Amino acid sequence: MAAPMATVASLHSDHSRLFTLAGRPFRSVYPVLSRRSGGISVGINLNLDKGCNFDCIYCQVDRTVPGMEEKNFPLLESVMEEIGLLFQSVDSGEFFGDTVFGSLSPEFRVVKDIAFSGDGEPTLAPSFLEVSRAVRQFLSGRDWTGGTPPLLRLITNGSGLFSRETRLRTREIFLQEDPGEIWLKLDAADRERFAFINRSRISFERMMQGLDQVVADLPVTIQTMILDYGNPGEQGSFTAGRDLWDPLLERVSDWSRKGAQIRAWHLYSVARPPAVTGVRKVSADRLEAWAREAAALPFPVIVFP
Ligand code: SF4
Repeated sequence: MAAPMATVASLHSDHSRLFTLAGRPFRSVYPVLSRRSGGISVGINLNLDKGCNFDCIYCQVDRTVPGMEEKNFPLLESVMEEIGLLFQSVDSGEFFGDTVFGSLSPEFRVVKDIAFSGDGEPTLAPSFLEVSRAVRQFLSGRDWTGGTPPLLRLITNGSGLFSRETRLRTREIFLQEDPGEIWLKLDAADRERFAFINRSRISFERMMQGLDQVVADLPVTIQTMILDYGNPGEQGSFTAGRDLWDPLLERVSDWSRKGAQIRAWHLYSVARPPAVTGVRKVSADRLEAWAREAAALPFPVIVFP
């Protein structure tokens, strides 16, 4: 029997990092039901300290509450133990029996990906390459007979990939031989809106120069969050309009013309309440109209309103 829509909808809007299995609270691994993955996404949080060089206006991480002191925390061991326990529980059926995911209908009862995401920028975590390599080995070492192995996915603002060495290692771990993807954030392609939306410590010029290198070297799926803020006409309000969209389309088209391997472009809006109040979801119509304008690009432009 299909899961009640309210359950699917509530799970889509609940991306809590708090997960408990058989009474054991997890620290660094958290499964969620993901719209964009199309099933269960197993998140890995390498930023228990909530460290990020962006401060996106739509971020769900509440940084008014300090993160954890990571210095002596065995992150690699924690991630690998929790990943092992989670997949054991999927194999035994306990995962879809005793957890919040128990009410899902069969089409959602599949682990689609293991995603490096979490409470900050994963590529900035000192253990990023070490942990992602270990998780890749874990996936490669399992018997997936009768099922499809989950993708290994990196969800990133790209800044840690400005290092050529990190790009090479990331390619080896995420993209060679076994299935994997890199989802790259590009919310604005002009200085003013980049400052408003991403509130980054990195300058706009450095960011665009770095992303130019990332897309030249790595196949990516581009992720663009489109939102409004405040009430139209009020001081400080923001409406996603042509001044946001035109530079975005121009930048992505330029990357494409220069030979970037862009697999897809996701246009999405707010699904869960951000930490900042006043951020508003935009209509599906607006996203779909812009996706139609981008239809000539040689990759799919997909809308997640
Ligand atoms: S890059 Fe991600 S974690 Fe960092 S502030 Fe933006 S949404 Fe939050």
